[in-house]
Amino acid sequence: MPLMLEKLNRADKARFIERLAGIYEHSPWVVERAYDARPFVTLAALKHALVEAVRNATADEQLALIRAHPQLAGRAMQAATLTRESTDEQSRAGLTQCTPDELARIARLNADYEARFGFPFILAVRGPRALGLSKAEIFATFERRLDHPAEFERAEALRNIHRIAEIRLDEKLGFSPELGNRVWDWAEHLAHYSDDGHAERGELTVTYLTDAHRAAAGRLASWMRDDCGFDDVSIDAVGNVVGIYHGADPDARRLLTGSHYDTVRNGGRYDGRLGILVPMAVVRELARAGRRLPFGIEVVGFAEEEGQRYRATFLGSSALTGRFDPRWLDQADANGITMRDAMADAKLPVDDIARLRRDPARYLAFVEVHIEQGPVLTEADIPLGIVTSINGSLRHAGEIVGMASHAGTTPMNARRDAAAAAAEALLFVERRASSVPGVVGTIGMLDVPNGSINVVPGRCRFSLDIRAPEDRVRDACAVDVLDEMQRICARRGVRLAIQETMRASAAPCDDAWRVRWERAVAALGVPVHRLPSGAGHDAMKLHEVMPQAMLFVRGQNGGISHNPLESITNDDADLAVRAFASLADALAAERR
Ligand SMILES: [Zn+2]
Repeated sequence: MPLMLEKLNRADKARFIERLAGIYEHSPWVVERAYDARPFVTLAALKHALVEAVRNATADEQLALIRAHPQLAGRAMQAATLTRESTDEQSRAGLTQCTPDELARIARLNADYEARFGFPFILAVRGPRALGLSKAEIFATFERRLDHPAEFERAEALRNIHRIAEIRLDEKLGFSPELGNRVWDWAEHLAHYSDDGHAERGELTVTYLTDAHRAAAGRLASWMRDDCGFDDVSIDAVGNVVGIYHGADPDARRLLTGSHYDTVRNGGRYDGRLGILVPMAVVRELARAGRRLPFGIEVVGFAEEEGQRYRATFLGSSALTGRFDPRWLDQADANGITMRDAMADAKLPVDDIARLRRDPARYLAFVEVHIEQGPVLTEADIPLGIVTSINGSLRHAGEIVGMASHAGTTPMNARRDAAAAAAEALLFVERRASSVPGVVGTIGMLDVPNGSINVVPGRCRFSLDIRAPEDRVRDACAVDVLDEMQRICARRGVRLAIQETMRASAAPCDDAWRVRWERAVAALGVPVHRLPSGAGHDAMKLHEVMPQAMLFVRGQNGGISHNPLESITNDDADLAVRAFASLADALAAERR
């Protein structure tokens, strides 16, 4: 592969264009414009140059590029205008073997889509590995995307075009993202374990200490032991899967890494798991090469982070920082099973939890790889991002009490409508949070208890969630929001009761470790893109006792997460493994 890249770097313009013909459907101008960005240090750098060529093109040129693509399984399938590449890809997705009913459905979707957006529906039908997407997934995606706003869908079409180009380019240059494929295969396999047994429908729910959860832990442990060559693999007293790969000196300090393997209800396959699988792939390569570094690597699959079965969250990482609260053991789940009983059933030695506390002096730092769970990287067309800070968050539970009265007889000026007051407060939250970059504010729960169609709401309960990269900025927003809520309620003659229910400090990533991630990403030829983390992560807990820094991996489907549509590509997973390996190599050089 590097040889092919070298040839491309040395080629004259005509040869360069000829060599990469067909990567972008009937649009050689994309390749032509990327030519000026030579030399490309890596394949990732070449891909980025192609992406930039399209980003910098005019809107008309972008539209022409989209329109140069055939309709999915459309009439164009028979026409001579379809490139060989497109025919191959569509036939591999099973789209050339549709039943008459399926063809009719596709024709209808194609027509609706063209009418709505003015360009053909484009989907990179070949996913990671040759298998690609199933017909069912293609139909589901088609229907979902018909609901997108026009601008968003146009960007989504371009993103799919880049993914198609990436797959074609890999093939042309004889590159296969083997490290990413391994991570992707592991994640697929783990997704077979789901609490409600609906894994075959693509639904994934793995909550603390259920059968599926314990099976996933066992699977991770066996991969670590048998496939990856870790020296020491165990499942600890809270269910964390811990794999240790010693340094050249077994007593050397360790780099601590990992993430969680539990999921939210009906969640995705990569949230948490990616951060376990990526360093596993790195250790596997080290062990296969018989390499030992001047430091050990300890990978932890945290048993619990999402707080789905019990109210407590971050059970796994709290045990490592010595902040596992024994009172949590008496919490009961929805079926009345206490955490203590669930742990006894799983044969976890509850009395040993206190001993799981790690001595920070034995560790270099905690680093965590995680899927972004947001749209920032995918909208920037950049596969990896460096986290600057994990946002501090603040949650409140509120209730507004007005007066329930007859919806027909109470004049508008005589109402004390609790829901209207909450609605006004919600719009203020939106306005106030939007006014400061990085701040997000959400009223995600709104409830009119015993509401009725003909009753002015007398009560309205709501939640409030505010986050920012710095505690000070978050708190200033909260003060303004609470003040304004009081004013709104006073003016409307309703009463507000609001309580803080959760407060988590922002966890800025350690500067030196953040820079190590940046260098690792830059070495891959990927532009360095920094962003805060809006979601909480295990790194936030480890932050309390040691330096931490995170790497984000771009999510597909607009970055959607906590949803079965959450997805990554094998090429992006491959880059994540390489970035981690590069960070480990650089660290080894520093410590030699
Ligand atoms: Zn997560």
